[in-house]
Amino acid sequence: MIGYLEALRLVLERAEPLPPVELPLLEALGLAAAEEIRALEPVPPFTNSAMDGFAFRAADASLGRLPVAGMIAAGAASVPALAPGTALRIMTGAPLPPGADTILPIEKVTVEDGWLTLDLQPRAGANIRLAGEDIPVGGRVVGAGDVLRPAEVGVLAAIGRIRVPVRPRPRVAVITTGNELVDAGQCPGPGQIRDANVHSLCAQALAAGALPVAWPRVEDRREIVAATLDRALEGADVVLTNGGISVGDFDYIKAVLEERGAERVFWKVAQKPGSPLGLWLLEGTLVFGIPGNPVAAMLMFEVFVRPALRRMMGYRHLHRPVRGGVLDAPWRRTGDPGRTEFLRVIAPAAPEPGPLRVSLTGPQGSGILSSMMRANALAVIPEGPEGVPAGGEVSLQLIDEREDH
Ligand code: AMP
Ligand code: MG
Repeated sequence: MIGYLEALRLVLERAEPLPPVELPLLEALGLAAAEEIRALEPVPPFTNSAMDGFAFRAADASLGRLPVAGMIAAGAASVPALAPGTALRIMTGAPLPPGADTILPIEKVTVEDGWLTLDLQPRAGANIRLAGEDIPVGGRVVGAGDVLRPAEVGVLAAIGRIRVPVRPRPRVAVITTGNELVDAGQCPGPGQIRDANVHSLCAQALAAGALPVAWPRVEDRREIVAATLDRALEGADVVLTNGGISVGDFDYIKAVLEERGAERVFWKVAQKPGSPLGLWLLEGTLVFGIPGNPVAAMLMFEVFVRPALRRMMGYRHLHRPVRGGVLDAPWRRTGDPGRTEFLRVIAPAAPEPGPLRVSLTGPQGSGILSSMMRANALAVIPEGPEGVPAGGEVSLQLIDEREDH
């Protein structure tokens, strides 16, 4: 059995950035640029007025009064030259007339009978936006791996890039398995429970920026597991199977995958919860065998699948912020001390300097799904110690925060 960090290393090694696609600007929001983009045009494209006001020569300000010789609106295709000793009315965004070097806003001047009176001595160059002052020709707008936020979308539009090369959203097929499961909208009969995991896993995939596809749930029957896997593989970048990965008599996922020639990257990780986790490569597609216990399913997504998806999406930051913490109450290990444990904990909302004082969400059983709802952090206890005393140090992963490394 391999350890958690070794398993994570193997996952990330196999999860390669997806081939770039060109997407319309708005569809690229939130995705990582696949290559550097430089401006082929200056922004702004021409020198223009930053104010509704009057254009003139700073040197003429000493005249005190200037006749207003005309008007330039935004969008004007041709602009009269400014004659010496005169002013032109000009609107915000209108091209600067040749000969003018200064603009005063209308609020700062007096106009009467076609004459402009300057109440103050203007600074030459005031209220003028120079061509290319925002982005010069050749200026770098985004680098490979930069995430396109609304601001990048705006700047790309300003330079005329309406399609951008990005790493696409991975398509994630989710296959839940188990004879005991019914749809969340159904009433469970004797021995049945609702399929919560198809929803939590799809929600996690969506929240990670991927495109989940929920396949019809599969009975614990070998042929049906095999047929669904075959169909799900087409058109998926990642397949998540859920349940049926352990050593139960009806756990067929592993057998079916390997029968189909899947390369086993690993099966079983020295961790709790989630020890039966497996990873296979089948026809170039990553297949995660995720255990069915609802907490384990969500944790395995958070700890392994999410960083893998982020790597496929070309993001630089794969991992949630890690902080030092202390437990507010003692915790004792119940199982094998050779395993990494992921405890669901509550960290203070307002970050404090120094270690964060955290409390357990409550019972830590891998069926206590509501613990995932309460937790905003995982305390990761490495193999070895029998427990953590009150005030004992733990390493925290802040799972409600954005990735920072
Ligand atoms: P398995 O991994 O298939 O052995 O399932 C382990 C436990 O998780 C069992 O108690 C299952 O009933 C439960 N379980 C499996 N799949 C789901 C699911 N999709 N939704 C809710 N619970 C599940
Ligand atoms: Mg099962």
